[in-house]
Amino acid sequence: MTSPIDLRSDTVTRPTPAMREAMMAAPLGDDVLGDDPTVAALEAKFAAWVGKPAACFVPTGTMANQVAIRAHTEHGDEIICHEDSHIVQYETGAPAALSGCMVRLLRGPRGQFTAADVAAAIRPQGIHGPASKLVVVENTQNRGGGSVWPLDRCREIAALAHERGLRAHLDGARLWNASVASGVPMSTFAAEFDSVSCCFSKGLGAPVGSALAGSAEFIARVRRFRKMFGGGMRQSGVLAAAAIYAMDNHISRLAQDHENAKLLAKGIASIPGLALEPEQAAGGVETNIVYFDLAPSLPFDGAALVARLKSRGVLVLATAPRRIRALTHLDVTRSQVEEAIAGVRAAVAS
Ligand SMILES: *Cc1c(COP(=O)(O)O)cnc(C)c1O
Repeated sequence: MTSPIDLRSDTVTRPTPAMREAMMAAPLGDDVLGDDPTVAALEAKFAAWVGKPAACFVPTGTMANQVAIRAHTEHGDEIICHEDSHIVQYETGAPAALSGCMVRLLRGPRGQFTAADVAAAIRPQGIHGPASKLVVVENTQNRGGGSVWPLDRCREIAALAHERGLRAHLDGARLWNASVASGVPMSTFAAEFDSVSCCFSKGLGAPVGSALAGSAEFIARVRRFRKMFGGGMRQSGVLAAAAIYAMDNHISRLAQDHENAKLLAKGIASIPGLALEPEQAAGGVETNIVYFDLAPSLPFDGAALVARLKSRGVLVLATAPRRIRALTHLDVTRSQVEEAIAGVRAAVAS
């Protein structure tokens, strides 16, 4: 059997032969001692890309977000973010566990909120309430169907946060996708925020790694918390080399993934009994994430559809009883997307 068409996540991409060669060739040292030239090169490159003075390489996007939260806050502080944000949904309660922070959850279509929502959530200063300390924006927004935040909205939110003495963090795990889709440079998005994180392990072929950027003072604090959280790595240049290769070679092609996601969404929407998730149907497929729902009339649920598709060589995820998520990425071609649509059509009909 040929290998499956894996649409479960964009984390499934594997290093290409050329990326592996770059990893093999990378000069290495002990990064905890500050000796790995490839990690230093990646950190400098990433900082320049997002227009910040300094950056730190970390094992995962979760760690990037959590060391950012730890470095920006004190125990008892409150973080303002969307209820569908990654830091709330997929990071095992880490803001509470690791930083002693409460979260104030905002709502809004496609995983986004407005400056007015933030203004209403900031607490008055005093000895009673938690201190509102940090706003987190996720761009693109994963559970919001890969939605791209309008730059003006980011500007308004960050300006308000700063005016009221809060900091602003950008969870840019897929900021490259937001940038390619909108034409807004990553550094323009990042300029509004005190810190920004990105994931090399999302859709770009790199096996491991994220980076976090901000002021030199902030990154000095981050390095301490990275060590505390167990993220100090030694000859990690072998991983940083993959990230450098990904930045140089696999960003501009993300436009193809976005085209493929639109094609996938269109194909799926044409299948009787399936429909794009309503907010995504209204907002459109902007990047590489597609959510679709099974009509109540279909006599099986999302888990059953996942199983049927698996036997046809197409892998997707059920994120709710009747909701499916599918992502496009480096390791999925246009013709595989066409095959996947045919597979879904047959699986629903069978
Ligand atoms: C994937 C992701 C992360 C980080 O996840 P890890 O699996 O820890 O690398 C952070 N934020 C968003 C929005 C993500 O999609």
